[in-house]
Amino acid sequence: MLDSLKKMFSSEDDGKPVSTTGKPDISREKSAELYEEAKTYFPGGVNSPVRAFRSVYGTPLFIEKGDGPFVWDADGNQFIDFCCSWGPLILGHNSPKIREKVSEVMQKGMSFGAPTAIENELAQLILKNNKLIEKIRFVSSGTEAVMSAIRLARGYTKRDKILKFEGCYHGHVDSLLVKAGSGLVTFGETSSAGVPKSFADETIVIPLNDRNAVEEAFRQFPDQIAAIIIEGVPANNGLLMQDIDFVQFLRAITTQNKSLLIFDEVITGFRLGFEGAARHYEVKPDIITYGKIIGGGLPVGCYGASAEIMSNISPEGSVYQAGTLSGNPVAMAAGIAQLTELLRFGFYKDLNNKAQDFVESIRRFASTRNYKFKVFSIGSIFWFAFTDKEIKSAEDIDPSSMEKFKILHRELLNRGIYLGPSGYEVGFVSAAHTKVELEKAKRAIIESLDIVFRTSPKNPKEE
Ligand code: PLP
Repeated sequence: MLDSLKKMFSSEDDGKPVSTTGKPDISREKSAELYEEAKTYFPGGVNSPVRAFRSVYGTPLFIEKGDGPFVWDADGNQFIDFCCSWGPLILGHNSPKIREKVSEVMQKGMSFGAPTAIENELAQLILKNNKLIEKIRFVSSGTEAVMSAIRLARGYTKRDKILKFEGCYHGHVDSLLVKAGSGLVTFGETSSAGVPKSFADETIVIPLNDRNAVEEAFRQFPDQIAAIIIEGVPANNGLLMQDIDFVQFLRAITTQNKSLLIFDEVITGFRLGFEGAARHYEVKPDIITYGKIIGGGLPVGCYGASAEIMSNISPEGSVYQAGTLSGNPVAMAAGIAQLTELLRFGFYKDLNNKAQDFVESIRRFASTRNYKFKVFSIGSIFWFAFTDKEIKSAEDIDPSSMEKFKILHRELLNRGIYLGPSGYEVGFVSAAHTKVELEKAKRAIIESLDIVFRTSPKNPKEE
């Protein structure tokens, strides 16, 4: 960390970090207490790593409740929330529609491990309104959806290798916890301990937006690549907008080589529109994975494809995949309630327009000030990047710019705005964010950006 910043955030006097912003740091006493206790139960005190606030200042906030666009932490601080549980809460927190439907279904029991009519109901709602897939299988998370889709692609093509892109995250699937090796087209290297090298050897990792690398991969591994997997719009390592012609190229080259194209729409599915990124690009993938929004805040994922491809899944076909809680009725109820709202006329137009007005107003401000800062966005997804360059692949991101995000994050918390605790993560606008909250958030962001750049060691344009 830069010395000037180190000083600014170092502990002084009573051990609390001193803010130079005129705003005292929010109280985190209760959160800190809960965190200490949690550390005795969970590795790093959390049940998912990014929650640990390792990339931003302070103790993780323990959230007590949420309502509409707001969350409250254990110390009673209120925030306008743009993390939205990392994407699922497109209607905002504690939607009455979802709550009512879930409560109604819960009265009849929680789980049966047998088919239920409510699974048909959610499936019908999806398939009637999504013309890109003909059959689906419900699972319990995005990771599980991707893991199953990969197995399906391998079983269907009778090939083993998967091509993925550096900067795309597909859940904690063994063979996809792989980062690029040293060459343009290489077998990947594991990015997590515990993943056998032999698994990583089946994964080819190349940069996003690089046609040559894709072509080279098919030359090097003819008839061996089962599928290319890409996030609908890569949104886990910043928001890496891909050119439409690159996505169309992926469609064409997979078809030519009898490989499958998998869109991982765990973030973009039901977010960019009901039919996600595939409809946005007008590209029809062979398999699509969904998660997050589909479960209305409860654990649901699914994968879908043509009836022909899906017929390879057990018990119809030889690709095994199962789940004790798959199609859980309570989770299905939440999905039905949420997706029904999304199908209301004008839902996406209103949400996306509202989100775009919000980000545009921040862009205008940053440009007036000449700040080295951009907001990348699509639909209701946005990403703050301390850069003046176009960013289309993971390697375009300057890791040192994350120091500025840390300051921004802290200043925003002090002003009642909650972003996911990492500068690589995107933010989400929900239907519950009204113009009032968005205006308030914009003002807080503007004030905070002034502080970020005021506390920068050099003039932003000179860095
Ligand atoms: N795929 C994508 C694109 C994701 O963003 C995520 C999670 O953020 C996953 C898969 C994994 O989903 P889950 O965390 O529900 O297992």
